[in-house]
Parts: sequence; structure tokens; C-alpha cells
Amino acid sequence: MSAYRGRFAPTPSGPLHFGSLVAALASFLDARHARGHWGLRIEDVDPPRCPPGVSDAILRQLEAFGLHWDGPVAWQSERDDAYAAALARLEAQGLAYPCSCSRKQWRDHAIYPGWCRDGVCEPQQPQAWRLRSDLGLRPVRWQDRLFGPQAFDPAELGDVVLKRKDGLWAYQLAVVVDDADQGINEVVRGADLLDNTPWQRQLQHALGLPEPRYLHLPLVMGDDGQKLSKQNLAPALPEAEPEARPLLHRALTLLDQAPPAALAEAPVAEQLEHAIARWAPWRLRADPERHLTAAD
Ligand code: GLU
Repeated sequence: MSAYRGRFAPTPSGPLHFGSLVAALASFLDARHARGHWGLRIEDVDPPRCPPGVSDAILRQLEAFGLHWDGPVAWQSERDDAYAAALARLEAQGLAYPCSCSRKQWRDHAIYPGWCRDGVCEPQQPQAWRLRSDLGLRPVRWQDRLFGPQAFDPAELGDVVLKRKDGLWAYQLAVVVDDADQGINEVVRGADLLDNTPWQRQLQHALGLPEPRYLHLPLVMGDDGQKLSKQNLAPALPEAEPEARPLLHRALTLLDQAPPAALAEAPVAEQLEHAIARWAPWRLRADPERHLTAAD
């Protein structure tokens, strides 16, 4: 088996919050326990959604928690050519097509009905690019390390956008191209991305790229029962190490790693050293109904 290569891939639409800490920490521990490589990729493909200064804040937050990444930071905003080459290959295979339809036009359908598959409906209008989910790999199956066997039919999820009408690259294409180019073979991330994996597997298959292993993590919910997110204004993580200590301890507890109470105020490096040696992701229960509660 090839050497472990993992990554943390935040979208810099806002600073990291407690939910992002849990995802970053689990992927870090998984990589470090395996003595693997842990890269950092800033997913800044959508500049209007990424306020200036946020990426720098994310780097400072990760440093404060002792989550030091290997190698240079990868920036999606610098990867236009790689994404364009992948889209051209999909187009040549008949797997990607331009689409002029607006959401308003197909609002009575659960998913985009594929009207532009056989020719763009309104060639004068701006066009997005979509993946033909009815061709290629289906159903998509994989063995999630926590959630077990997964099977989805991508055609039931719809023809996902690869490039937007405004010319920006969509997450699905960028993540697949980058994971492959960066040699990522282990993906640890939140369960909110579980149902994106079928499109990503379909794209990997179409582009002849290797399939990483996946571990999706239960989501962290706030006191109000909502997923912690930037949209819910979850508080930003601190950027100073002393303030990071109790939060790191709480994140380790949520991940069912049972950190000793005596380490609750210990420097982050000490807490991490202890946790890396004992990392046991299977202690996390893969109950789809179970959510990690930030207030636990
Ligand atoms: N950029 C994505 C996010 O912040 C995560 C991508 C991934 O881990 O695949 O939600």
C-alpha cells in the first residue's frame, strides 16, 4: 500500500469554527497516527465568497491548535489550467455538456432534468458546464471507513455543475483534480459531504484517477440542533495557543478519544502527542442519527 497522504481543505468563506476544528483534527490525527503526509489546501475557487484576510486567519488558527501541515499550502485559485484540462477531457468523452438552463426554469423538478444534454436550450444565454450523471460509473459504491458500505446512483442526484455560468470552477471538479494531483489517498471530512462523494467517484473514474479511501465524520451540532456553520454564525476559533487548549480537549472528547482530564489545560502539542499515539477512529460510533453536540 502506498504511503498515507491526507489533507484538510477548508473553504475560506469565514474563519474556522468548532465544527471545522473537529474535521481538521480528525484528518490530522489519522494522518499523523499513520506517519503520513497531511497537506493543507485552501479551496478559494469562489473569490466573491471569500473575504480578504480569511485564509491568513485560518492558517493562524491551525497553528494555534498545533495542526501543522506538511509542505506548501495549495491554493485552488492558482489551478485554473488543471481544471480546464480536466473539463476538456470530460467534454471529449461526451461526459460534460454546456447548459443554459436557470434554476427558475427547472424549479418544479427535484433535480436538473438534463434538458441541455442533447444541445444547449438557449445558446445565446450564459452557459454552465454539467456532468452527465447518467453515463459512466453507476451505481457508485465505496466502503466508508466509518459509515460502512455506501451505494448511490449519481443519476438520482442529478447532473452536477462543474463550471458555473460566471466562469468559476465548481467544488466537485476542483476537489477531484486536486486530490489526484496532490496524491491524496485518504480523505477524512464531515458527513455533510457524504452525498457529494458519488459525483467525485464518478469524476475520478471518468478521468482515470485513483480512488482515495473515505472516512466521513458525524457532524457537530450547536445547542439549537443546527449544524455548526459559518451561516449559523458559529464563533470563530481563537488564534492564540493558550485559548486553544480547552477547545482542543473538547474536540478530542467529541471524537470519542477520551483524552485524560489532566490534559484539559495542557499545551496543544502535549495533547496532540497523546492523541496521535492513541488515535482510534472506530471509537466514533457510525450512527447516522448521532450528531456531536458542541456543548457536550
Ligand atoms: N472545502 C470543503 C469545505 O470546506 C471541504 C472539501 C473536502 O474536504 O472535500 O466544506
